[in-house]
Amino acid sequence: MNDTRKNRLEREALKIIVEAGEKGILQSDLWKKLEATSREGSRTALRLEKRGIVSRDKELFEGRWTYRLIAQKQPITIMAIAECPCFSCEQLDRCGEGGNPDPNRCEILTIWILGDKKKAEVEGLLDETKKQA
Ligand code: SF4
Repeated sequence: MNDTRKNRLEREALKIIVEAGEKGILQSDLWKKLEATSREGSRTALRLEKRGIVSRDKELFEGRWTYRLIAQKQPITIMAIAECPCFSCEQLDRCGEGGNPDPNRCEILTIWILGDKKKAEVEGLLDETKKQA
């Protein structure tokens, strides 16, 4: 496989894997979409895995072992940014690096970045900022 084809396959494979989202895509389905041979597809997936861009999780599918490819980083969506607690924080006007409050030390922002599981905790703390405003 020449470098041009190799690079094109990597780019297209990554696009398909990212678009598959958190559920990922079976390696065998990827080749079909790429119109590549299973050998080219395996090598492409291995290269992406070695670079830490995708994970390859072994999976039994219809009686055969294959791999599920999942992107290790998903692109940031507008929706994800829109949910940032700063947009509904009463202290946004006063908040700044080195100030008080400081986003580098903000518990609300930290909890939000750490994940959705703590959403209720964030909402409770945002209510507290309303009382302080
Ligand atoms: S206090 Fe926290 S949540 Fe509010 S604007 Fe600053 S960083 Fe964002």
